[in-house]
Formats: sequence, C-alpha cells, structure tokens
Amino acid sequence: MTQLPPLYEGKAKIIYPTADPDILLAEFKDEATAFNAQKRGSIQNKGVMNCAIASHLFQYLATQGIPNHFIAQVAPNKMHIRRVEIIPLEVVVRNRAAGSLCRQTGLPLGRELNPPLVEFYLKNDHLGDPLLTPDRLRLLQVATEEEVVQMRQIALVVNGHLSHFFAQCGITLVDFKLEFGRRPTGEILLADEISPDSCRLWHQGEEDPQKRILDKDRFRQDLGGIEDAYALVMQRVLAQSVS
Ligand code: C5P
Repeated sequence: MTQLPPLYEGKAKIIYPTADPDILLAEFKDEATAFNAQKRGSIQNKGVMNCAIASHLFQYLATQGIPNHFIAQVAPNKMHIRRVEIIPLEVVVRNRAAGSLCRQTGLPLGRELNPPLVEFYLKNDHLGDPLLTPDRLRLLQVATEEEVVQMRQIALVVNGHLSHFFAQCGITLVDFKLEFGRRPTGEILLADEISPDSCRLWHQGEEDPQKRILDKDRFRQDLGGIEDAYALVMQRVLAQSVS
C-alpha cells in the first residue's frame, strides 16, 4: 500500500492519513526531545517500545471503560488511531512530587500527593507549554468548562487504573501527561500516547533516586541506560493481561 504524505509531524510521532478519513496512522519515532526541544537525541528502538507500551495501555484502559483513540497496532512502531481534533492542553496528573512541581514549589522529590494533583498546561511549544490557572483556562477558551471538567474526571480515573496496572508491574506511577481530542460528535476521547516518554515511572524497591528512574528523565538528566529502562517497562507492561 502506498503511504500518503504525513498530515503532521511532531517530536515523537508522525501522523499519516489512511484510505479511511476517520482513521489515521501514527508512526512512533526513535527521536527524543526534552526541555521544549532544546535537548535532542535518539533512543534506539524507542519507537517500537513506546508503540507497544502505548498500544497495550490503551487496550487496558478500553477494557476499564475509558474510551480512547487506539484502534489497532498494525506494525511494531505503528498504530491505527481514530481521527480527533486535538485539544491544545496537556493534562498532567501527579501522585508524587517530581520535575517542574519540585522546581516551582520547592516540594521535596517523591513527596506523596494525596489527593493527586491535576494540572492543565497550554500545549504550545513557542510559549513553552505554560501552566494555566483556572481563570487563564477560561480566558483562552481552548476547551469549554464542561470539557475541562470531563478531562479532569477522566484523568483521575485513568490515574487510578494506570497506578494499579503499574503497581502490578512493580513500578510506581509518579506522574504522567495526557492529551484529549474531540470526535465530530463532540465526544472527548483520550488521545496521543502513554509511554515512558510521557510518564514518570520508578522501579519499586529501588531506593537509589537515579537507579529507580525508568522513563525519559534518564534522557533529560543524561543518566544513560535509557534503552534498558524502556525495555524493562515494555517487558513488564506486556506481561500483564489487558482483559
Ligand atoms: O516536567 P513536568 O514535571 O511538568 O512533567 C510532568 C509529567 O508530564 C512528566 O511525566 C512528563 O514526562 C510529562 N510531560 C510530557 N510532555 C510535556 C511535559 C510534561 O509528557 N510536554
């Protein structure tokens, strides 16, 4: 089958049209970026590993009643997804303090957050994906108030399911980022990807604050062992049944 030209190329994925206007093809790349693309590199086999992990997690979430854009994995680094209009917001859920939360608030790394924190960031590279206040979220009108309430609710339910799933893998889900899209019907659908690029994952039982990291922080912090960390996550995720 001939490949149509891409519709969109992002930092980690290329999105192609297919013969069916409702179905798109997402190709996961090995390219890695951090700090708003100021740091660039490549993680060997990342496309294949993230596609496998995301496919498995999307199928798991679907069995738990969370509709999402995943249709089928069609190649090691490619999945068919349902076409949505991406809402330009990044919804971050945090179970423990890490990353920008520690930098901006001074909270100690690893502090448990109960209840989990839900944050909305504007998805805009030129502006550096700024954290939005509720008033700014209303001002920008990138999503309706009802959509914001829905995304917050879905994000918290996803957090419950993913935290449970990763705990069974011997992994702590520290935080993660979700993106949502709108279907032509107005329905909100979980989209983008869920992978070690978009989650902070710590190896349970490993106390060393560097050795325990199994996610893109290894790339951000130049810790090495990135491929091995992603491979361990993939092996443990795929070992869990999704039904
Ligand atoms: O950097 P920060 O601590 O705000 O990131 C919170 C979570 O969101 C992390 O798991 C990070 O990997 C994810 N994230 C992301 N894409 C972004 C920003 C954050 O996947 N553009």
